[in-house]
Amino acid sequence: MEKVAINIGFSCNNNCIFCIDKNKRSLKQPCLEDLKRRVDMAAKRNCEELYIVGGEPLISKYFFSLLDFAKTRGIKKMGAETNGRMLCYEDFVKKIKKYEPIKFTVSFHFPNAFLYKKYCLADGFYQSVAGIKNLIKYKIDFGINTLIMKPNLLYLEDVINFLKKMGVNKPIYLIHIDGKNIMDKYKEFVPKFSECIDVVQKIIKKNPNIKVQGIPPCIFKEDLRENVVSCFNYSKKPLILTKQIPESDYEKERQGQFQTYKKYFVSPSYCKKCRNRSTCLGIRKDYFKIYGAKELKPI
Ligand code: SF4
Repeated sequence: MEKVAINIGFSCNNNCIFCIDKNKRSLKQPCLEDLKRRVDMAAKRNCEELYIVGGEPLISKYFFSLLDFAKTRGIKKMGAETNGRMLCYEDFVKKIKKYEPIKFTVSFHFPNAFLYKKYCLADGFYQSVAGIKNLIKYKIDFGINTLIMKPNLLYLEDVINFLKKMGVNKPIYLIHIDGKNIMDKYKEFVPKFSECIDVVQKIIKKNPNIKVQGIPPCIFKEDLRENVVSCFNYSKKPLILTKQIPESDYEKERQGQFQTYKKYFVSPSYCKKCRNRSTCLGIRKDYFKIYGAKELKPI
């Protein structure tokens, strides 16, 4: 099934210190016509699933126009990444309900308003919580992405328990923070694998459906390795349309995006002996430069 993602602009109602796109927030926003052209290209390619990413897509004045346009172009399924704050408004959620099937990926990293404000520099915690509750109330499909980072490491289990207490029984992904855009504060934000593995494994043991991204499988106990999402899954991720390209260039563009992603990784000498090399790209180059590779235990 063809999946396409469209970036609606990098504006956001949060200001997260660790955001991977924080240096792009002031970039010029695409106009509606440009966005529609991209949706049109996706439709011509028989795209069945359109994903809208940002910034925070739900604050874009074009969000609903784009969903409407995608529907008229025959795209059946839609989705968006969000911090969930806009979903606290019930009228907004009721409007969204009309676009089903639609699925949201909600970022949720902290178990309380204090930490949220400290690291997202915004009073968004209660809105985000209300947003998730509304998704549950209106039976709209969603999943949760939670970063594994030093600021929330001690509270990671609390985050999961908090979500469960709210009634979240949807897929939860724990994602080891990239760190690319916080190189000046890398050690303040990016935990070593050995620092976070006990917490992560404890969480998985209690919640076997949780998946982990960004920590290589060799760091995990053997029976928990199937909870690790292979980096190669990226090749199946939606093609991100950032500009207009001819239909004939789609596959080239998709491969190009995967190759760019691969360049962020390195396979240290440890990996040469590993049976898992065909499904693991190794570790991020920045991580290797700063923390080395001694934690890896080839499988
Ligand atoms: S390929 Fe390298 S990083 Fe990946 S699991 Fe094997 S040793 Fe670990």
